[in-house]
Amino acid sequence: MNRKQFLASLALIPLSQHVMKLTELNKLSSSMERTGRMPVLFIGHGSPMNALEHNEFTQGWQSMAAAIPKPNAIICISAHWETKGTFVTSMAMPKTIHDFGGFPQKLFDVQYPAPGSPELASEVQRTVGESKVGLDDKWGFDHGAWSVIMQMYPDASVPVIQLSLDYSQNTQYQYNLARQLAPLREKGVLIIGSGNMIHNLRAIDWSGKTQEFDWAVEANATFKKLITGNEHQQLINYQKLGTAVAMAIPTPEHYLPLLYVLALKNKDEEITFFNDKTVMGSISMTSLKI
Ligand code: ZN
Repeated sequence: MNRKQFLASLALIPLSQHVMKLTELNKLSSSMERTGRMPVLFIGHGSPMNALEHNEFTQGWQSMAAAIPKPNAIICISAHWETKGTFVTSMAMPKTIHDFGGFPQKLFDVQYPAPGSPELASEVQRTVGESKVGLDDKWGFDHGAWSVIMQMYPDASVPVIQLSLDYSQNTQYQYNLARQLAPLREKGVLIIGSGNMIHNLRAIDWSGKTQEFDWAVEANATFKKLITGNEHQQLINYQKLGTAVAMAIPTPEHYLPLLYVLALKNKDEEITFFNDKTVMGSISMTSLKI
């Protein structure tokens, strides 16, 4: 090889890598048929037993799944996966994680065999930035994801990946990161935040007498007003929203998926609330569709 040929081959390297990337991208977009802009959902998941029950809430999830286009793939941001740094699951066949205690054996026996999507995991990385999102091959589906998604898509035919909550970053950072996922809505990807806007386990009324504490009524009204009014900055700074909201969010992990969902909203899009009810006094099942 003479010098000229050598230089020419060097010039080819980045080009061939570029070509490879394009091929991968083409593969992904051809497997992901365009469906127009997909909605975004926040689901109040409540008890893991909802995975097996047939009640007004699971009915609401099923009706929503039937009312929207069938997605090419799902990205779920669950309250139950917190990491230092943001990660996406990248395995081809994620395992079902039973991350709870004290429930009947039949709940531990549940498997949700939906495939993962290494391609979509890589696309999330490319879209948000490789320095900001890492690939994970150890997690799987926690109950925040599978208890809801198995009710919506019981045949497990839609590939699902999870995106973690970064506990080392503030709410503004997480909201900004979630915004970067917006282009995926145009590729048939359904993004689901799974948590509970009001989630105070210590305040639960086990007697069954209280359906909704006064502070929960107040917090739910505050959230809905700010969500409807596009007052995202106030929701990002939720710690300034007063004592009722402080009772609703004793720890942030069940609230944070809501911010990921709202970050994906365009100003002109409408919000529809469903399952708008509080159970055991201090857990709201309130869900929404953008
Ligand atoms: Zn939960």
